[in-house]
Amino acid sequence: MKRFSRQWRVWLLLALLLVAVGVWVGVSLSRERAHIGTQELDRLSAQTKVVEDNLSRQLTAINLSLLSIEQALPRWQGRPAGRAEGLQTLRNMEAVMPSVRTFLVTDAQGTVTLSNREELLERNFYPRDYVQVPLKVLDPTLLYVSPPYKSVLNNYVINLSRVRLDDKGQFAGVVSAAIDPVDFEILLNSVRYSDDMQAMLVHGDGKIFLSAPLLDPAMAQDLLAPNAPLSQHLRGHLAPGQASGPEVLNLNQRLTVMRTIAPSALAMDKPLVVVLTRERQPLFAPWQRDVLTQAGAYLLLVLISLFGWSVFQRQRTQKIMAAKRLKLATEASGVGIWEFDLITKNYQWDDTMFALFGLDPKAASPRNDDWIKLLVPQDLQRMREATRATIQHDQPFGMTFQINRPDGQVRFMHNRAALYLDDYGVPRRLIGATEDVTQRMHQDAELRVAAAAFESHESMLVTNAQVEILRVNQAFTALFGFAASEVLGRNPRLLKSGRHEADFYVVMWAELVQHHSWQGEVWNVRKDGVEFPCWLCITAVCDDAGVVTHYVATHTDITLRKAAEDEVKRLAFFDPLTNLPNRRLFSDRLHQAVTKAKRELGHMALIYIDLDKFKPVNDQHGHAAGDQLLQAVAYRLKACVRESDTVARVGGDEFVVLLTRISQAQDALQVAQKMHAALRTPFHLPTGQSLQISSSVGVALYPDHGLDEATLSQHADVAMYSAKAAGRDQYLVYEPGLDHAPEAAQTDPRAAGATSSPSI
Ligand code: GH3
Ligand code: MG
Repeated sequence: MKRFSRQWRVWLLLALLLVAVGVWVGVSLSRERAHIGTQELDRLSAQTKVVEDNLSRQLTAINLSLLSIEQALPRWQGRPAGRAEGLQTLRNMEAVMPSVRTFLVTDAQGTVTLSNREELLERNFYPRDYVQVPLKVLDPTLLYVSPPYKSVLNNYVINLSRVRLDDKGQFAGVVSAAIDPVDFEILLNSVRYSDDMQAMLVHGDGKIFLSAPLLDPAMAQDLLAPNAPLSQHLRGHLAPGQASGPEVLNLNQRLTVMRTIAPSALAMDKPLVVVLTRERQPLFAPWQRDVLTQAGAYLLLVLISLFGWSVFQRQRTQKIMAAKRLKLATEASGVGIWEFDLITKNYQWDDTMFALFGLDPKAASPRNDDWIKLLVPQDLQRMREATRATIQHDQPFGMTFQINRPDGQVRFMHNRAALYLDDYGVPRRLIGATEDVTQRMHQDAELRVAAAAFESHESMLVTNAQVEILRVNQAFTALFGFAASEVLGRNPRLLKSGRHEADFYVVMWAELVQHHSWQGEVWNVRKDGVEFPCWLCITAVCDDAGVVTHYVATHTDITLRKAAEDEVKRLAFFDPLTNLPNRRLFSDRLHQAVTKAKRELGHMALIYIDLDKFKPVNDQHGHAAGDQLLQAVAYRLKACVRESDTVARVGGDEFVVLLTRISQAQDALQVAQKMHAALRTPFHLPTGQSLQISSSVGVALYPDHGLDEATLSQHADVAMYSAKAAGRDQYLVYEPGLDHAPEAAQTDPRAAGATSSPSI
């Protein structure tokens, strides 16, 4: 605000200065104009004086001539020779006076009695003004000046006349001289010094006698209009016999000076007035050109001043703004600027420098070198050496050092500086920038830790927000077989196996977007095409605004873990010796089969098998042989059923079979019989022993012998135990009587099968 008002003041000052120059130029131009006018009028006035002097002399001479004629008349009129003498005298006088054309003498009747021009003798001019006016006035002292008129010789002339009186004082005629205009015209032309100048001889009653050059009628009208200054002047000021000095008439279009010619020695009836007039336009044309030139120059000055000033202002504003921007930038970036004078050894600091070093600018020492005390001795020594190297070799200066600030904080600063030489190449000052790099150093340390952590044994990859791989570690390469250069910029989908449906990844991304992390088991593929299970953890990295900038993924190969899990699972549901489903798995399958049979109104059978007298086998041949026998039994039992059926080992020498695809009881009996027979066939153990055993088999059918698992199992068990009780080595189909008749089983399996023939 302050700066703007100051700017306006400067603009105002410039405007005032320009106005003052303008006024000065205007005043001097108007003075010059007035001077031109005055000078011109003086010059015109001087020229009228020339005309006046000349005319006065001539008028005086003419007057004297007329007087001498008047006095000689009595002499010439008395005798005949006198008349001839008079005529001759007049001719002589006319010859010596070039301005006079005609001398004549009239009698009281106006008849010419004497003249240098014989053709005028005896002619009567009584009506003429130059006779009539003297006749009326009868003043012998007056020289009468007639208005111009056209003479009988066809010329414009003015007559100068004197009255003649006889002895009684009566009018006796006039003595007159007609003035030759040619001579006066030469006179008028001689005083004209420019073409636009008009010289005139005007009669006292307002008629123009002579004009050089010939007067334009319009100008004559202009000059002699009744209200024109010239006419007023003639009317008001020129009484007969009265003389006046030059008068300046400032007409609109012309500069005019007029001078009355009435020599004091003469008593003229009407004066003659000489008028010199000049057009203003040609006179002031050079001045007008001057005005235009000076106005143009002034305008140019104004424009140059305004332009120059605005450029200066703009540059100044730019400099101020640049300085401000630099200050803002250094303040915002926290960079302090300093200067060290190599001659005075004084430091100059900006505010940021004081803030960085935790020093109070007001309490600073005169040389401003308090900061040196904050440096640890080794750093001070290093700094002095670096400074010396910079000054001696003009090297750029840059070093990081530690300070112990007065407030107890330990900070790390980085100094950069450059050397400035004076015009003679002598080092004058160091100018530098200092910034606090403590945080950056900590961050660098953290980055080093992060980099070390990144190169851990666990496979890692980092992508940008567009899921393009930016970085992978060594463990990644080791795990997947891809070198970093092969995957950078690519999408991690190149690691995908074909094992997961698209939905799997949709769910994964939904969780990532919502929770910024996801982990789970994923099947990936190596570069060599081998698929393997992975434990994948993906974490989204967000900026301060919560926008995802990167994703970090770690992969753990869980092939071994998965195998172990499978083994545990296998142990939980399968018999480790025979690899047959155990009781647990069998119960589950039975449950599913019953559910399905109920739903589909199907049939199925449950067969319980217990080896007869197995314990003695163990006892006689050893436990290992017993185990091998159990494995062989399992093998044979499985060979008797279809893939969809289940053979399970539910106890030491106890097996159970689930047949799900039977349509009648006979089917089940056939399988039971087949199994019974299969087990009776001698076994040849890997140890080389040969064994023969038998088995007791019980059969229960769905839905005949039970509608649920428990009932079915119980009835199959009952049937099996009945077989056992009936002497072993046989198979029995359950029938209700068996529950209470443990000895009812038959030893002939075929008979048993026939008798029990359950209806399905
Ligand atoms: P019975 O005719 O009444 O069935 O008499 P048995 O000797 O077969 O006796 P029982 O069925 O009651 O007992 C089964 C025997 O099988 C008990 C045990 O000694 C033996 N046995 C149980 N589990 C294993 C095993 O995993 N391996 C071996 N070798 N023998 C086992
Ligand atoms: Mg047994």
